[in-house]
Amino acid sequence: MHGRSLVRTLDAGAIIIMVIAVATLGLMAWTTRLIDHSAFENEATLVRQSLTGLAADFRSDLPPPGVNGDGWLARNVQGHALFSVSAAGRFVASRAASRISGLLADEGTAARLEQALKALERIDPAGERVDLVRIGPPRDENIAFVALTRDGLGQNRLAIGLIDFAPLTATLEGFGLQLQPVAAQPGDILHANGRLGIDGLDGDPVAYLGWRSERISRTITGLVLPVLAAALALGLFVLMLLRRYWSQARDGFMGELRQVEALAHTDPLTGLPNRRALFDHLQTVAPATRSFPPMTVLMLDLDGFKSVNDQHGHQAGDRVLKLAAEVFSTELGASAFVARLGGDEFVAVLPDILGDGALQRLHYHLQQSLRQRVPMEGLVPIGVSIGAASSTQETGDGEDLLKMADLAVYAAKAAGRGVAMTYHPDMKRDIAYRRMLERELRGAILTQALFVAYQPIVRALSGEVIGYEALVRWQHPVRGVIPPADFIPIAEKSDLIIGLGNFVLDRALAELGPRGECRISVNATGRQLLAPGFSDFVMDALARHRVVPGRLCLELTETSIISDPDSLATIMKTLQGQGIRFAIDDFGAGYSSLTHLLRFKFDVLKIDRGFIESLDDKPEAPMIVTSVVSLARSLGMQVVGEGIETPAQQRFLASAGCGALQGYLFGRPVPIGQLGLAEDPKLTTLDSPVQAA
Ligand code: C2E
Ligand code: MG
Ligand code: MG
Repeated sequence: MHGRSLVRTLDAGAIIIMVIAVATLGLMAWTTRLIDHSAFENEATLVRQSLTGLAADFRSDLPPPGVNGDGWLARNVQGHALFSVSAAGRFVASRAASRISGLLADEGTAARLEQALKALERIDPAGERVDLVRIGPPRDENIAFVALTRDGLGQNRLAIGLIDFAPLTATLEGFGLQLQPVAAQPGDILHANGRLGIDGLDGDPVAYLGWRSERISRTITGLVLPVLAAALALGLFVLMLLRRYWSQARDGFMGELRQVEALAHTDPLTGLPNRRALFDHLQTVAPATRSFPPMTVLMLDLDGFKSVNDQHGHQAGDRVLKLAAEVFSTELGASAFVARLGGDEFVAVLPDILGDGALQRLHYHLQQSLRQRVPMEGLVPIGVSIGAASSTQETGDGEDLLKMADLAVYAAKAAGRGVAMTYHPDMKRDIAYRRMLERELRGAILTQALFVAYQPIVRALSGEVIGYEALVRWQHPVRGVIPPADFIPIAEKSDLIIGLGNFVLDRALAELGPRGECRISVNATGRQLLAPGFSDFVMDALARHRVVPGRLCLELTETSIISDPDSLATIMKTLQGQGIRFAIDDFGAGYSSLTHLLRFKFDVLKIDRGFIESLDDKPEAPMIVTSVVSLARSLGMQVVGEGIETPAQQRFLASAGCGALQGYLFGRPVPIGQLGLAEDPKLTTLDSPVQAA
């Protein structure tokens, strides 16, 4: 996962944990409150019922009406008293002495009891109620049951019974409640979690009873909550640690990535942007897709650098390159994009059009600066040749400008050192250009900048792939992929074609050799065949790549077999004797085709693309093609039609008796990796258009 999104995920995780924790705590608090409340209700009911039970006992203990209360008291009940108010004052049962009589001695208590007696006489003449009053002096107050009773004289008396809390406490303890001492005010009950007001005669609480019990909330707040909080804190802590770790790791990674990016776009020696950065810049400021502002691309090639390197070593060379980079950067100004392309080549992209006068002045200025700032290593002065290309309406994109500047700098170098030139289309035709291309091509063969593309050759009727033609390509550092038509003719004029041709042959055998039984067609030239040791080279390459000779077909164009036809015929014969086949390529494009056919014994004839193109518009073309096919067949040659682009062309050639076809209709030349063939496949039909045709 990407570092940033991981940190975001961790943040989101922390928030989610917090929200869930708060919600859980809220829910727990709410449910425990509910549970606590219902527990309290139950406990209060229990306490009330216990009190009611005691009250009922008290009532049943009272002497029946008319019984001498004092005697009854003596016989029956300790801790009860009878209290009467008569004209003579009040009467307190002597047997209830000790504790209760002490409490009744209190003035306030007597007054309260008198009030209670009067009230009961009024509201309870039948003597059925049991009520509660507080008796005793302040700070020694107790709660007592009171009820109306009648003595033997028919006198109303107040029966008083101290509540004995001992059995009540014992009963409630059985239910897990610890009863607290009676309190006159609710605030006096200190350690209770349940509390009940005990109502007196007037309905107001006369006292309060408190109790303690095990509540679920206590368990939760005392145990679950701390554990939960600790787990939450730990979880958050771990998340924070992870987040910290990841953001540090991410920052480090991003930093490294930026460094790698910067390094990938920087020339390590001079610190200037490198080739890759230059192409990125050109694509940004001068893209192919839209118009871009006026600009000039300068290709700057150091003069004298090679001798410095050769005579004074690489360190001296590196010093010169660094100083030259500084000169270009400072003198061309901040608006210029200066890059090192490689070797002693620099490129500057300027944001305006540079006329020839301005170019010459700039060149003079740069030459002066280089002379002043770059010390002469030995006796070699360092200068610069410049090729310039400015944007016009016709120019393509930035990369096209670079290619033009590249051609211009070669023209400048060819014209003598220390010259600045603006691009002109004629430069492409110049001898200097050809020489430059030849020199570069020599380097390309050495540095493996050449690669091979393969185009399928198919059976005319079925479209089944029977082989491939190897076609060379040149990946130029500035000008991109260069087609063979641009450099083969140059290579053919020198021995370069031998190295190039042998390279393609070897590469094609190596790449196509392991792929099934397909035929391998490779272009060759007379010059290549005539080079000493060619036959041995071919046989050796076949053996090395384990390819049977019968799979190889060498294609020769008519023009390439003009010189020394006798020797050529001999070599062809030797190789044909080994099983290798020969094709005459681009048949009809040359001028002495029939002579060639008779002189050399070709196995295959490839009809030139020009004939196929003219099938549509030249009335005589179909007849010529048909004749060529029948002539070839009568000479025992297989015929391949080249440049087939339409199903109509395919149909015509197939009906004319042409056995094999090649062209964009069946596939363009592509590098081996894009051929889409597994090793050692059974070659089958390429695509449906052929079938449909
Ligand atoms: P060729 O041997 O006749 O190769 C066929 C050329 O026609 C190829 O061009 C191919 O891309 C092109 N072609 C194929 N099908 C079609 C089509 O349907 N329409 C059109 N318009 N063109 C098609 P390419 O690759 O540019 O090669 C040009 C010539 O360069 C070749 O012509 C061949 O003579 C020469 N060449 C290529 N590679 C080598 C090589 O390794 N050695 C030598 N000596 N010559 C080579
Ligand atoms: Mg060919
Ligand atoms: Mg051809």
